[in-house]
Amino acid sequence: MIPGAPINQLSGSSYHIITFGCQMNKSDTERVAGMLDALGAEVAASQDGADIIVFMTCCVREAADERLYGQVASLKNSKALVAVGGCIGQRDGAELAAKMPHVGVVFGTHNIASLPALILEAWETKKPAVEIISNKEAAELEYPVTGADNPVKREHAWHAWLPIMTGCNNYCAYCVVPYVRGREKSMPFEEVLEETGKLVADGVREITLLGQNVNSYGRDLYGQPRFAELLYALGESGIERLRFATSHPKDLLEETIQAFGEVPALMPALHLPVQCGSDRILEAMNRRYTSGKYLELIEGVKAACKAAGKEQVAFSTDIIVGFPGETEADFEDTMTLVRAVGFAQAFTFIYSRREGTPAASLVDDTPREVIQERFDRLVELVQQSAWDFNQQFLDTEVLTLFEGASKRNNHMLAGRGPGNQTVHAPLPNGAASTDFAGKMAPVLISEAKTWYLRGTLL
Ligand code: SAH
Ligand code: SF4
Repeated sequence: MIPGAPINQLSGSSYHIITFGCQMNKSDTERVAGMLDALGAEVAASQDGADIIVFMTCCVREAADERLYGQVASLKNSKALVAVGGCIGQRDGAELAAKMPHVGVVFGTHNIASLPALILEAWETKKPAVEIISNKEAAELEYPVTGADNPVKREHAWHAWLPIMTGCNNYCAYCVVPYVRGREKSMPFEEVLEETGKLVADGVREITLLGQNVNSYGRDLYGQPRFAELLYALGESGIERLRFATSHPKDLLEETIQAFGEVPALMPALHLPVQCGSDRILEAMNRRYTSGKYLELIEGVKAACKAAGKEQVAFSTDIIVGFPGETEADFEDTMTLVRAVGFAQAFTFIYSRREGTPAASLVDDTPREVIQERFDRLVELVQQSAWDFNQQFLDTEVLTLFEGASKRNNHMLAGRGPGNQTVHAPLPNGAASTDFAGKMAPVLISEAKTWYLRGTLL
């Protein structure tokens, strides 16, 4: 590893970051932007004029993997320095640099802090700079914290991602994450509190705790603090809105469900990936719960929220269609479960075979058209479900945390409700949308669509 770059070494250069995949990558992107800014680089207006193009990559599905390689290949004649990080950087390392000689930097998921130094090294030596700390080595290191050496440039001043753990120990049969991101490692309890305190003091009003399975937070720490304890402690931190992602249903404990009722800052929204509604397929996926258990958890969270006056809990989920061996009856079980929960949102994926995972060796003979047809039916049901969910907000007041003007219309404010739904409201006459950024106000809802609510600011 070469030493950290001196201050302002990147001044005069511009950068552009392209982010794929999950919220962890969004969070890592904010760290990369923070470091590049701190060294004097500026955001480029577009990818075309940028001196540095950084890809934060994902390899969960094959399509994302191929798209990344295609996009990087298309920069063959670009003068920009191309840096590849995230899961593909971690997985392919030097091999990627060898395959694509125009790539200047490859950095692993544990090497974000080295990026500026790697960029300078590549510029100076005119050779690719590659730095990957293996997951095994990373397990011995301290949890990476943010701070002066590791500044973060938040997309919104009032919202922060807070990765409280990295890695995953679950080995779901279809998933590459545990192989790429390594074993679970939690940020020490006191550090999470300290970090939260700093964010609150900095004007952050909403925090989303991140991890592949936040429910197993703390199992690797001395004294084994539990996730629910962390939620209660953060409830005292002064943060106004608290969310977390992702939760594995097998580890969602009763005490965490109770926290929804007892921690006022914990928003009535839960992303709980179900993956499938068939118990037979759930077992083959190594998910270790049944659809019945899943529905019990949903009912538990609804009851805990209701007792605390938090009505209308927004449940969201991930669903995989076409896992090897999925029959029409299995798929119908998924449809039945989706109808029973009434999800506010669901991310739907067609199964993608990933080399090295247990599912890769299963017989996978369902015709592509059959899977596509199931997928289309599911998407339609999910959209109906989101529309139905939103109807219950008509003529009610939704407390909205505003982001500023909507991307499509300067005269329309956009923000988020407690369930994380998008809320629009016309900008009052004579007001500037920027005045609303980071402010909270109730909106009386008069229109409820599939993906947004609209009403008047009160
Ligand atoms: N740790 C999180 C998210 C993991 S990846 C969790 O367990 O919920 C995000 C989503 O991608 C998963 O929930 C799953 O629905 C989907 N996914 C993962 N591997 C996949 C594969 N091989 N094919 C299709 N979808 C996949
Ligand atoms: Fe993948 Fe399962 Fe871990 Fe989520 S919990 S990252 S789906 S192995």
